[in-house]
Amino acid sequence: MPNADQNDIFFDRARAVIPGGVNSPVRAFKAVGGTPRFIRRAEGAYFWDANDKRYIDYIGSWGPMILGHGHPVVVEAVQKAVLEGFSYGAPTEREIELAEAILALVPSMEMVRLVSSGTEAAMSALRLARGATGRKHIIKFEGCYHGHADALLVKAGSGLATFGHPTSAGVPPEVTQHTLVLEYNNITQLEEAFALHGNDIACLMIEAIAGNMNFVRATAEFAKRCRDLCTQHGALLVFDEVMTGFRVGLHGAQGVLGITPDLTVLGKVIGGGMPLAAFGGPRAIMEQLAPLGPVYQAGTLSGNPVATACGLATLKEIAKPGFYEALSKKTQSLVEGLKTAAAAEGQPFNADSEGGMFGFFLMNELPQNYATVMTTDNAKFNALFHGLLNRGVYIAPALYEAGFVSAAHSDDDIAATIEAARQIFKASAPR
Ligand SMILES: *Cc1c(COP(=O)(O)O)cnc(C)c1O
Repeated sequence: MPNADQNDIFFDRARAVIPGGVNSPVRAFKAVGGTPRFIRRAEGAYFWDANDKRYIDYIGSWGPMILGHGHPVVVEAVQKAVLEGFSYGAPTEREIELAEAILALVPSMEMVRLVSSGTEAAMSALRLARGATGRKHIIKFEGCYHGHADALLVKAGSGLATFGHPTSAGVPPEVTQHTLVLEYNNITQLEEAFALHGNDIACLMIEAIAGNMNFVRATAEFAKRCRDLCTQHGALLVFDEVMTGFRVGLHGAQGVLGITPDLTVLGKVIGGGMPLAAFGGPRAIMEQLAPLGPVYQAGTLSGNPVATACGLATLKEIAKPGFYEALSKKTQSLVEGLKTAAAAEGQPFNADSEGGMFGFFLMNELPQNYATVMTTDNAKFNALFHGLLNRGVYIAPALYEAGFVSAAHSDDDIAATIEAARQIFKASAPR
């Protein structure tokens, strides 16, 4: 059998032993069809699949690889840490250093607790918000993702400002009955929810620049209304910055919007590609956590010495002067180039970016909420996805995901990406 596709062979093997062949669902290419690429290695802006085909990587492990793959300073820090031991289950100086580095960059946080995944951080922030306020209800928005904790796997009920229904089997309705699911950027609904339930709301959790319904910004007015209503009703405003933290700018979405949340959830970039996440906020709230306070939270591998070495080295690099200016310019040139190419071929298209994060839409207006994002022409997106993949450009295999540019992407990589997209736009141009 000539040219056996090694990805197909791996996919068959994987499906025999791992549900769906993957350890996280979106990797399976279910939305776009076809065989997922099994990655052998990565370097800088590229990775290579099992057939040794090279791709320009625009997912960067879904955000963490902001420096590109295998940055020499980070690799050195990790190699050094590994030689000193993998894990102790006892505190280390490096955890203090990383905590200090995070607090210096995110002024709304006075204390931070390190954990191992964004899911864990968001789930713990939620428990802390409920424990600190003594309230049950929480607000989340349709299209925002905060990891897979039970109370957050929820979609809107019928009618305005009603409580949600589970989106996953295995989540009893009792567990989501305190979660209010509202439309993103809908101020009327937000006001109604607080008018009806304000005194029982522990927290409002939001991706202030959403990266899990492609790329959708909270409007300045909406973000401010979230802040004001939380303050007015004694609820905590929780910014889930697992994706946006150190990605849209050095001070996250809160820096971009100029809004101070009560709690912040971090992940992805702060681990530099290792399992590391965090949540934090004002001292008085954080001191409610065990061992000081009554809110329990723990982790065997929390603050892992190898992961903290990786995160710390990454944060030192991105805090260098000019880092985000250069990254933003690069991301903007990609977005502008794609827009120009689509316009030249008469394709409906729009795109937006902030720092090293971007989104594009096969429609003329930038969407304001999840329902609008999901009106995207699926077949058209899939054709674009596979067209790019064939040309060696790897974007997220689902239309509701954001994209990521790293410091390692060159002007030539960006130009090659725009040219690949232009060819696909041209081939499908309306006549
Ligand atoms: C990725 C993500 C999470 C979940 O993080 P994991 O490390 O995958 O558990 C939570 N919130 C947001 C906004 C994310 O993008």
